[in-house]
Amino acid sequence: MKIAFIGLGNMGAPMALNLVKAGHEVSVFDLVDSAMRRLEEAGARTGASAEDATRGAEVVISMLPAGQHVRRLYIGQPDSSGLFDALEGKPLIIDASTISPQDARIVGEAAAERGLTYLDAPVSGGVGGAQAGTLTFIVGGSQAGFEQARPVLEGMGKNIFHAGGIGAGQVAKICNNMLLGILMSGTAEALALGVKSGLDPAVLSEIMKQSSGGNWALNVYNPWPGVMEGSAASRDYQGGFLTDLMAKDLGLAWELALGCKATVPMGSQARNLFALHAAQGNGGLDFSSIQKLYRSGEES
Ligand code: NAD
Repeated sequence: MKIAFIGLGNMGAPMALNLVKAGHEVSVFDLVDSAMRRLEEAGARTGASAEDATRGAEVVISMLPAGQHVRRLYIGQPDSSGLFDALEGKPLIIDASTISPQDARIVGEAAAERGLTYLDAPVSGGVGGAQAGTLTFIVGGSQAGFEQARPVLEGMGKNIFHAGGIGAGQVAKICNNMLLGILMSGTAEALALGVKSGLDPAVLSEIMKQSSGGNWALNVYNPWPGVMEGSAASRDYQGGFLTDLMAKDLGLAWELALGCKATVPMGSQARNLFALHAAQGNGGLDFSSIQKLYRSGEES
């Protein structure tokens, strides 16, 4: 298929690469030129703009940081029109970014007004899952749109879920990431307690993995440097899922809770921890660097 991919960051670049490998005709665009060069070398066409990249596309996929980027891309701003008004034909629109369900519905309505099918399809599985093509896609939108998207999503992911109407994918993703934020900070807290009490972090990790505290962070994303080969912690927390993005997702969980009068005391605690960690200059590090917050004053 002819697929346009917009946003080639930590997640978007390996996802687009997998679409090239799956034999699709891929054109790409990112504001950062160097991000496009890697895809060009792999055989993708690079666009001079988002409009250019989407020319002739049957499917448009976006993977952008936050809701404002997605709204700006598709709908535009008061002084400039968006991609929806520049598209030729009626490609299927799949936004894989994590944004608020409300933003997804706003973009979905703007798409519907122009006769376009829009799906919110946030992902889980991290950069490792994006590289391996084993992401989980959590899709919101019509059944027909979901069926149309499935073969494309299968080129980048292993588990493809249909959560409900537009915005439902984002609700499920936000619930998942709130739990992830709680699990990662809890794991970091337990490791710091054990190490300060004289345990080896690798030994403690193995014990907790095989015990009732076992969880995804311990299994595949250990936050203590050197415990897990290839983890973000073992490369100085570079790349991966940024602290800023986790703080954003926990903020989305908070907004969602306000809107439906849910109580999220653990999620609020995690949001404050990640927001504090970001404010201390760690927003550009992987979110497992929350471990550093628990290690401050270690030498004293
Ligand atoms: P990132 O910051 O690494 O990449 C975002 C990319 O979008 C950048 O390359 C940036 O230049 C580009 N961009 C921004 N505005 C643009 C525009 N108007 N046109 C073209 N390109 C534009 O972020 P990421 O880690 O790849 O995450 C992307 C989304 O996926 C976020 O919503 C995040 O919450 C979500 N997510 C990330 C992970 C992860 O592990 N990193 C996992 C699941 C979901």
